[in-house]
Amino acid sequence: MTRVSPISAGLAERCPNCGQGRVFRGYLKFKPNCQACGQDFLSSDTADGPAFFVGFIVLIIFAPFGFIIPMANIGLALKLFLMFVLTVVTIIASLIMLPKAKSLMMALQVANKAKEAELDHGDD
Ligand SMILES: [Zn+2]
Repeated sequence: MTRVSPISAGLAERCPNCGQGRVFRGYLKFKPNCQACGQDFLSSDTADGPAFFVGFIVLIIFAPFGFIIPMANIGLALKLFLMFVLTVVTIIASLIMLPKAKSLMMALQVANKAKEAELDHGDD
């Protein structure tokens, strides 16, 4: 079996193990496992990581326009219209990026065998 890139599988919202099965059964709800290979999708926990990264990326891309538009030498009606467009575009970009970020984070966790931190009770 060829090794699947977790990045391409994650961005395509496909199984990080086989690259075939879809990972979501709804907008952001993971399926219990892969229909193609049986990979468990619920063992990884992405928590609020995807929302943080998407929020940060969207902020970097769109926040400058939130300062440029009010300072532009244009009429108030046009400023209000552009701010409305900026808001809508920001929301749409976030909604498009969020499932891909969640799938990507889950794929990276599976590929790197990430798990919860444990205390080391070693004898040394
Ligand atoms: Zn699979």
